[in-house]
Amino acid sequence: MVDGIRRLGDRYQVGELLGRGGMAEVHEGRDLRLGRRVAIKILKPELARDPMFLARFRREAQSAAALNHPHVVAVYDTGEDVLDEGGPTRVVVPFIVMELVEGITLKELVHSGNRLVPERALEITSGILSALDYSHRHGIIHRDIKPGNVMLTTTGVVKVMDFGIARATSDSGQTSTNASTIMGTAAYLSPEQAQGRTVDARSDLYSTGVVLFELLTRRPPFLADAPVAVAFAHVNEPPPAPSSVDPTVPPTLDPLVLKALAKDPAQRFQTAAEFRADVERAIAGVPVTAVIPPTIPRAAGADSQATTVMGGVDPNATMAMAGATAATGAMSSVLPGGSAATGTSEQPAVPRSGGVLRGLGVAALVVVLVGGIALLAMSLLRPTATMVDVPRVDGMTLSQAGTALSDVGLGLGREDYEPSDRPADTIIRQSPAAGDRVAEGSTVDVVVSSGKEQVPVPDLEDYRSVDDARTALEASSLTLGKVREVDSEEPEGTVLKQEPAAYEQVDKGSAVDIWVSNARVEVPDVRGKTESQARSALFDKGFEVEFGPAVESTSVAPGRVLSQDPKGGTTAKKGSLVTLVLAKEPTPTPTPTPTPTPTPTPTPTPSPSPSTSADTGGGVDGGGGGGVANQGVSPTPAP
Ligand code: ATP
Ligand code: MG
Repeated sequence: MVDGIRRLGDRYQVGELLGRGGMAEVHEGRDLRLGRRVAIKILKPELARDPMFLARFRREAQSAAALNHPHVVAVYDTGEDVLDEGGPTRVVVPFIVMELVEGITLKELVHSGNRLVPERALEITSGILSALDYSHRHGIIHRDIKPGNVMLTTTGVVKVMDFGIARATSDSGQTSTNASTIMGTAAYLSPEQAQGRTVDARSDLYSTGVVLFELLTRRPPFLADAPVAVAFAHVNEPPPAPSSVDPTVPPTLDPLVLKALAKDPAQRFQTAAEFRADVERAIAGVPVTAVIPPTIPRAAGADSQATTVMGGVDPNATMAMAGATAATGAMSSVLPGGSAATGTSEQPAVPRSGGVLRGLGVAALVVVLVGGIALLAMSLLRPTATMVDVPRVDGMTLSQAGTALSDVGLGLGREDYEPSDRPADTIIRQSPAAGDRVAEGSTVDVVVSSGKEQVPVPDLEDYRSVDDARTALEASSLTLGKVREVDSEEPEGTVLKQEPAAYEQVDKGSAVDIWVSNARVEVPDVRGKTESQARSALFDKGFEVEFGPAVESTSVAPGRVLSQDPKGGTTAKKGSLVTLVLAKEPTPTPTPTPTPTPTPTPTPTPSPSPSTSADTGGGVDGGGGGGVANQGVSPTPAP
């Protein structure tokens, strides 16, 4: 997207791509003036086209730049580059120059499958909280605490990044410009963010609780296959105790995590410092002060129904009932920043506060219907004005749609993102429909494809057969990819490794490769060992041992292993039989019969015993004494 840009603002040289996020690409770079390496985050041009976004981004980048703390990724500079697309439009693309962090994100750490000891998980959390304590005291709420926004340097230092930048996309009362960013973040949303309510510093503490949960158990507290379902769970479902998800987590940590995950901000830690003090207590092995908060208060009656409705009805189906317009209304109630207001009104079409709508679930149905009706009513009751035909924007990108709409005096309304098989970043639905007559100056809501639907990869490790793994993958709308066999002591068919890793989000229908045990292990080389040494070495590896008739040898001491089949260093199925031939004292040859051997055949003739031929031929004493030695390997004892 920004391949053409080699230099920014005549000062920064853009190098290799470090990573991609929902709204930007991050490149390694060089500050030519100061001669230091930096990281440069460049906004996606589609987002840069939105003037409101642009203004907010600039402001927020500035406030983030004011932070100076060892656990906060320093923002050095911000700027803008003009992207000339060759047409009449020139797009201004903002960028942020940051401290280059050498290390990995917690997201990569968690997905690497390595288990963190609880102490390390707590230390990392303490680092995050120290950064938050600092930023909260400077009036900056992070709003997007998630493993992808926390890096761990190669020396083990925690670095939190993207402070306040999320705000540019999710400030309350504003139309969400980048729902895909929010989609990817559903797992770490606080309940108040999920409901589009006002957030304060305690929202960051909830998200930190989610991160801690994941560091401890390698999965977030709420798993579901749609972001909306995860958002609902944050609002309605009690989180599981970490120790119940992963028995290696000490139950003493449960109160710490569950307090952070309280639905009601008033029941959480009230400040980052307070949370951190308790984390430090846990690290020191001192009892924590946190207690598991009382059950989350929910609207009486709605409670059980809400769960039933959510459990039994696909939220997408629910939305489909009320049509596309209503669906966007429903999304707005679970995604941050969304308001069901159209471009013409500052008032949300759906009441935001009030006990009735606190629990979602059943309430969501109400929201869907009320939202749908309200929007419908607004378009029907619009006073007479110049009417125009809505152009077809389906299939266009947002910028194309923006142009097409403004050409006829209309504007873009809500943009919501939704997984789809249609190309990412193109519009897949519009409301009102193409051809509808609407008042000039009104807006058209669109749903944009966020690309293929993402699903979490199941954890296949320890599955006992390829068929089981395939069944589990198919149940998760994925397919079995390459199956590779690996030498291992595990029972045949046991899944040892998978790629992508468990819980990673991947395109629906994509393939997962697995590595399974073929239960083949290396046969130890036991030649020259005593019988009991050989037996135990082979038993240790799971082999059975049998003995062939002993064979005379001059090179191997009697009673020691002369040869083996299969040979040492080869692999064989665990539990299979290894045949050993022990050496025995050679019978003294009465008189080396001076039989005239006119032509001593240099090559020994094939050995008579098939089971020992392999080793005796080329192995221990093979070929040793020409014709005479060959006599020695005869299994028939000399008279
Ligand atoms: P989102 O944009 O949705 O918040 P994200 O946090 O994963 O998602 P970005 O913030 O755009 O995305 O960052 C993308 C990736 O770039 C990160 O995952 C990280 O690997 C890398 N990255 C970001 N900032 C830096 C930095 N300062 N130093 C080194 N690598 C960085
Ligand atoms: Mg980020």
